[in-house]
Amino acid sequence: MAAEQHDLLFNAVNNAIMVLLESDIDGFDNALWRSMGVLAEAIGVDRVRIWKNYRVKGKLYCTQYHEWSEGAEPSQGKSITIHVPYDEDLPGWEEKLSKNDCINCLVRDLPASDRKRFVSQGILSILIVPVFLRGDFWGFVGFNDCHHERVFHVNEETALRSASLLIASALLRHEMTRELTDALGKAHAANQAKSQFLSNMSHEIRTPINAIIGMTLIGQSAASVEKKDYAFEKIEVASAHLLGIINDVLDMSKIEANKFELSCIEFNFEKMIKKVVNVAAFRVNEKNQYFHLKLDPDIPQWLVGDDQRLAQVITNLLSNAVKFTPESGEITLSVHYKGGGQKHCTIQVEVQDTGIGISAEQQARLFTSFEQAESATTRKFGGTGLGLAISKRIVELMQGKIWIRSGLGAGALFAFSVKLGHAAHKDTPFRLALQKDPVRILAVDDMPETLAFFDMYARKMNMTCDAVGTASEALEGIRKGAEYDICFIDLRMPGMDGLALTREIAGITKKKPPIILISAYDWNAVERDAHEAGVNGFLSKPLFASDITECIEQHLSGGGAGGTGGAEHEPMEALFRGLCILLAEDVEINREIVQTLLEPSELTIDCATDGDEAVSLFNANQNKYDLVLMDIQMPVMDGIEATRRIRALGTEKAGNIPILAMTANVFKEDVDKCLQAGMNDHVGKPLDMNELLEKLKKFLRR
Ligand code: ADP
Repeated sequence: MAAEQHDLLFNAVNNAIMVLLESDIDGFDNALWRSMGVLAEAIGVDRVRIWKNYRVKGKLYCTQYHEWSEGAEPSQGKSITIHVPYDEDLPGWEEKLSKNDCINCLVRDLPASDRKRFVSQGILSILIVPVFLRGDFWGFVGFNDCHHERVFHVNEETALRSASLLIASALLRHEMTRELTDALGKAHAANQAKSQFLSNMSHEIRTPINAIIGMTLIGQSAASVEKKDYAFEKIEVASAHLLGIINDVLDMSKIEANKFELSCIEFNFEKMIKKVVNVAAFRVNEKNQYFHLKLDPDIPQWLVGDDQRLAQVITNLLSNAVKFTPESGEITLSVHYKGGGQKHCTIQVEVQDTGIGISAEQQARLFTSFEQAESATTRKFGGTGLGLAISKRIVELMQGKIWIRSGLGAGALFAFSVKLGHAAHKDTPFRLALQKDPVRILAVDDMPETLAFFDMYARKMNMTCDAVGTASEALEGIRKGAEYDICFIDLRMPGMDGLALTREIAGITKKKPPIILISAYDWNAVERDAHEAGVNGFLSKPLFASDITECIEQHLSGGGAGGTGGAEHEPMEALFRGLCILLAEDVEINREIVQTLLEPSELTIDCATDGDEAVSLFNANQNKYDLVLMDIQMPVMDGIEATRRIRALGTEKAGNIPILAMTANVFKEDVDKCLQAGMNDHVGKPLDMNELLEKLKKFLRR
């Protein structure tokens, strides 16, 4: 090789490298193309190709990354990818190249099997230069001559080896830089979303706290009891709201730390839905919205899963629906049974509203943490943007998915499916005594869906049902001799209302059947008139099959006149007279809350201010106590250790006495820890009085 040619080649390699080094991240592909072109020209070849190796299940493949060819555009060079297994398509190449040897020959000297692929492209000579990066066989650069039969000079080979290595290094560096830049961009966006979230959060938390502080001042200075009550109510609502926000944040941090788990228990599906609907009903009534409930009768009564988390998802969807639907709008909750196998079944829940809707672009972001449809929506409606992200996670843990159908201004349908286990607990049978004769029901309501519900209910329970839309139709039937065992009558109907119909029925029947008034409204206002008219009980809408069954059983088994459909709470007065509990709690205000709230029940409460004192008090007075309420985080000795020590005392009482954890540590593993230490159950803080009462009743009355 002449010295002049050598210099030319040396300069070309230098130029090619300079072009690459000077390029920025966006201009890299063009620079690569140009530098491959400079080399091709200097060495007089028609094509330069960069190939990169990869392994699948131990087998080595290569794929073409970039190609420069005479007259082509830079963009054409990048799109080509061909996946070639060395052992099948390039026999002998892996062995040779991985020893860092070049393949430098005329195509016609190649073995026949190799030759074909080059001949078909018009290639006469090839130089294949292996590239090693950090000691690994990274790939190769191929130089093809379509015009001359030549073996490349050893100097050319050496120069192209250096050039190839530098090109491959630049390529690798570029890929790493791009990945870093992408990651940086993502981190930046996530950081911004979190900053936005923090500022939303601060606003969200300050709003209820502001209400609590303000209303406390108003309450303190209020002269009338009514005004004090008003302030207390507002404080209650704001505190519940604040608790909801804190729970969402805790859930989200659990999800982010991959520590979000579900519990698995048998639960009554309809009861779970009833609780959820009761919570939503308050806001629905406040906004004068119409609420519809459609429960598939095929859904088993008992299922296995995490009912609280399921309820959390439905509550979130319902409260969003109420929030984003204006006054007088409609909200429908429907639950479908989607079949299943021996062990599991699929349940699909849909929440449909007639509210402001969500555009397609916004829908894509909704299920990501901290995202809301738009910040304007946030400011007007409030919220943390966590609910849907948490819901999505819960649904996925239940092996389901969540989706949305909506358009701006067109209302929204949020739906999700979950897989739940079948329970060993079987459906409660209807009382046998009532099954001898089919029960005859009369249902009167101007809403067709209520009538359809009664029809379906009666068919499922083997009863007969006349379901009519007006009071006059009902009266006409009775006058013609129809007889009923029980009547369900809507309160508000056009024409004759429920109370008037009740009076009429009492006037024309010899033996008046029990009459149950049904209404979506608060029936406290009509309670007195209703009793005077001869109404025997009340049921609130939406109707649940179990309520109707309970109502029928109660009124037809002779003991139920005057009942209210099971909606009444047992009064607390003297409920636990003669019983005594030990309360272990270090915070004085928490002791005071428990003592004051339970005062009417006449329960005797002894207090210990740490775990150690609790163990000593119990040990010294074992026969006195009927139950222990145990805080977990306490000084000196925590509740877990105190429980272990009580259980280890060895007496029958120490082994049997119910111990209930009462703690703000409400995660599943916290509850599990309590149970493992020998506690019987768990009540969360802040205290839900109803929950505490239910659990006390359960354990004190055994
Ligand atoms: P939050 O309601 O606390 O902001 P979510 O994750 O539950 O958080 O909801 C995220 C966003 O999705 C809401 O801020 C709202 O923009 C939008 N969104 C959710 N449900 C509805 C709905 N039913 N109608 C209209 N927009 C909705």
